[in-house]
Amino acid sequence: MLNFSLPPEQIEVQKRAREFALNELLPVAWYFDEKNETPLFVLEKAFNAGLMNTDIPDKYGGKGYGMLEGILLTEEFAAVCSGFATSIFDNSLGLEPLILSNNESLKEEFLPKFAKEFKLICFATSEPTMGSDVSGIRCEAKPEGNDYILNGTKYWITNGGIADYISVFATVDPKSQHEGICAFLVDMNSEGVSRGKHIPKLGQRASNTAGVNFNNVRVPKEHVLAPPGEGFALAMNTFSRTRPAVGSLAIGAARSAMEFAIDYAKKRRVFGTKIANYQAIQFKIAEMYQKIETARLLIWKAAWESDSGMDPTITASMAKFYSTEAALEIVNDALQIFGGYGYTKMFPLEKLLRDIRLFTIYEGTSEIQRLIVSGHAMHAYQPVMPPLEDLPLLKDIGPDKMSSPGKETTAWRCRMCGHIHHGEAPPDHCPYCFFPESSFKKVWPKE
Ligand SMILES: Cc1cc2nc3c(=O)[nH]c(=O)nc-3n(C[C@H](O)[C@H](O)[C@H](O)COP(=O)(O)OP(=O)(O)OC[C@H]3O[C@@H](n4cnc5c(N)ncnc54)[C@H](O)[C@@H]3O)c2cc1C
Repeated sequence: MLNFSLPPEQIEVQKRAREFALNELLPVAWYFDEKNETPLFVLEKAFNAGLMNTDIPDKYGGKGYGMLEGILLTEEFAAVCSGFATSIFDNSLGLEPLILSNNESLKEEFLPKFAKEFKLICFATSEPTMGSDVSGIRCEAKPEGNDYILNGTKYWITNGGIADYISVFATVDPKSQHEGICAFLVDMNSEGVSRGKHIPKLGQRASNTAGVNFNNVRVPKEHVLAPPGEGFALAMNTFSRTRPAVGSLAIGAARSAMEFAIDYAKKRRVFGTKIANYQAIQFKIAEMYQKIETARLLIWKAAWESDSGMDPTITASMAKFYSTEAALEIVNDALQIFGGYGYTKMFPLEKLLRDIRLFTIYEGTSEIQRLIVSGHAMHAYQPVMPPLEDLPLLKDIGPDKMSSPGKETTAWRCRMCGHIHHGEAPPDHCPYCFFPESSFKKVWPKE
């Protein structure tokens, strides 16, 4: 039977994440947002609490959590601070190419290390000149003996200024697009790696974002995550497994916006009564709640697909653009319920709005998710209905004749305007659109 309830172990994961978020993240969230700084000690606490790198398979000494546990964690962290949540989750994003890679010796060397020690790893496809178009990577990886030499700049890299390692995507030939793309695990202390300054941002200011420059960085072939030609697919497979978490980050933050709005609406009096008594406010709250529940169902479905060994790509994209856009609407409505106070820094809504704005952009913009989903709907999805031109529309024939169709019931459909003509042969031309006989197709009886 279809089941939407969480088993006790997952409820326990959610409870631990919630307690950690409320006790460790909440007291310092506004301070570090204002300071525009990522506190390493907070990330280390998450690691020590067993709430980071949770998707490392148990075979490599990790917890072996699935995507579902991952999204339960991220929702709770983001409910308190999306900036912290993004920086904590970034290790899962950075490790995913290694987990998905076929380089077994690299996995055996690094995954147990990440399971045991507090180390940060970031993920880099984006560059100053490209983000959406991953096939347009310019950062160059030149084979030289047993090594690759990396040259180029990665931009917008979450934790790029503080990470110990980077999963970096490059190309052996920028002109060859998808076919040239490869990926490497690189130590950020390697000679020739430089970190840019923390990029000032609208929101998620407690999450470090920086450029990373590679100047003749020598990477041993043993550190190849994907050889040339396989890097693009590795990047896309990584996103399929991380986009649902971006949805849950957005929904976590939106959930808090709704909770604050309900609290405020029950206390604020306008025109002699609490604003919670106005139906306009109640309807906003109903829609917030509905959007959160709808988004969560889609996110959980993507997680279920991934954890069951199915390809979650399409559901992951739908979950990402639905949840992140719904979250933006929710926080906007919540701020409206606060009136002028919502616009001040004394209440949490302005930070939530700034933070939530990012989710429709990183890990593939909403537009890119729409391209993925529309591509599937138009080319891979199997329709149930016959093509329009084959639709018989037998309303004029009636069930008695349909059961024993004879000559008199032969039906022809004009492929241009849809008119159905009954008769042994199609007409010379269509009486509606004047298209010639050749535009008619026999639709009944079926041949
Ligand atoms: C705070 C932050 C953290 C980030 N962290 C990371 C990270 O850790 N690692 C990493 O690699 N990247 C990271 N990114 C980069 C992020 O993934 C990109 O910003 C994003 O993919 C969009 O790329 P772009 O900014 O180059 O926009 P562009 O690709 O230049 O797109 C500009 C606009 O055009 C639209 N567009 C593009 N192509 C199409 C199309 N075919 N049809 C319709 N519309 C289109 C886009 O949706 C967008 O609205 C981060 C970004 C930010 C802001």
